[in-house]
Amino acid sequence: MSITMQRTQRFTHKPLTDHTKYRVYTQRQFHQIEALKRLNPEQRFEIEVVANVLPFRVNEYVINELIDWDNVPNDPVFQLTFPQRGMIEPEDFDRMASLIKKKANRKEITQLAAQIHTKLNPHPAGQQEMNVPMLDNEPLGGMKHKYRETVLFFPSQGQVCHSYCTFCFRWAQFVGNTELRFASHEAEKLHRYLQQHPEVTDILFTGGDPMVMRTRHWENYLKPFLAPELAHVQTIRIGTKSLTFWPQRYVYDDDADDLLRLLEKLVNGGKHVAFMAHFNHWQEMQTPVVREAMRRIRDTGAVIRTQAPLINHINNDPGVWVRMWREQIQLGLVPYYMFVERDTGAKRYFEVPLSQTYEVYQKAIQQVSGLGRTARGPSMSSGPGKVEIQGITEIQGEKVFVLRFIQGRNADWVQRPFFAKYDPEATWLDELQPAFGQERFFFADEYAEMVGDNILIF
Ligand code: SF4
Repeated sequence: MSITMQRTQRFTHKPLTDHTKYRVYTQRQFHQIEALKRLNPEQRFEIEVVANVLPFRVNEYVINELIDWDNVPNDPVFQLTFPQRGMIEPEDFDRMASLIKKKANRKEITQLAAQIHTKLNPHPAGQQEMNVPMLDNEPLGGMKHKYRETVLFFPSQGQVCHSYCTFCFRWAQFVGNTELRFASHEAEKLHRYLQQHPEVTDILFTGGDPMVMRTRHWENYLKPFLAPELAHVQTIRIGTKSLTFWPQRYVYDDDADDLLRLLEKLVNGGKHVAFMAHFNHWQEMQTPVVREAMRRIRDTGAVIRTQAPLINHINNDPGVWVRMWREQIQLGLVPYYMFVERDTGAKRYFEVPLSQTYEVYQKAIQQVSGLGRTARGPSMSSGPGKVEIQGITEIQGEKVFVLRFIQGRNADWVQRPFFAKYDPEATWLDELQPAFGQERFFFADEYAEMVGDNILIF
């Protein structure tokens, strides 16, 4: 029997029984969440107020199996999914609270929410205006081509998530304003664009969460990658938090087996299939169903890499990362990135200074074996590129951050170390100043030109 046949048979029976139905609650139904009755009325009202501003969506699996309700409100998964008062400015909270108290109509509430959204930097790092690729002299919506070898694709069927993270940097896509959304349903244009770009080796499907898509949509997008015209696209990455929010996708959903067979076909066709799995806390990885989902995905030959931002109230603690990374290694996953919380949305509530983020990273990475040290240090997905904090040190009497580009809008910037004055309060690249009396960072002028022209570097 061939390996392929042996593998395929693994996806034809359900090894566990499970009766969890996918039931989701949004701001409109949150009063129906049984577990919330354990909170006092004031706490429930605070959730309601913030849920009218920021996206809120949570499903029963998360409520019943991931949140430890004895530890609420401090429970990390509760913080990850339920809005908290401090996530919006006090005056905005008060304005929204008074509208709700006086039972204002939906239009008034939506208008106020939209006003508040504009203050929350809905598109950090020029997400919306920049990086848009062109095909036949037309801009391609739902695609981003920021770095030479990687294209991001936002399938329109994948623009929600099984639940929403309170800190999501793509929150603007979920608040009902279609101007803030980018998504594409045009598989054919994606494939044609890639055929014309042999420099692209990696395609990243992202969202929302593309894993909300049915397998039949995945087939439309993925099968063409097996054709010779797309042989240069070696890696298919899937950015997803479904292993946390709905691992049943790989075990019990009626098209779960078809999905796994599709992934296996890609692997057998020579593709590297990589899950970029988003885990913020080890608590998300404990249920039998997530363990089974990981096992089944790995059985296809796909690799699961893990990544997450460091977030106050959720994982601002080296011990959390040590346990998470150690368990991931044990489960055959590959720790990949610790990110810095993006400069958008409820950042004020979640942000941690770069200095402290680096300290957490350093303490955590020291306690995992070499296999866990694949996790890159705190990285900022900023306008000029992906910048990693490599260390904090003193050079000729000046305390500095040591930085490098992991990815840059200009590929020549990658791996060039550069230095910023140490600032214990800074939380993002644009708050840092060059060290050693330099006026500007080495990339600043070139980047300013790119932004001015709003063009790509290639
Ligand atoms: S799963 Fe990803 S895209 Fe969805 S809410 Fe969370 S961070 Fe945002």
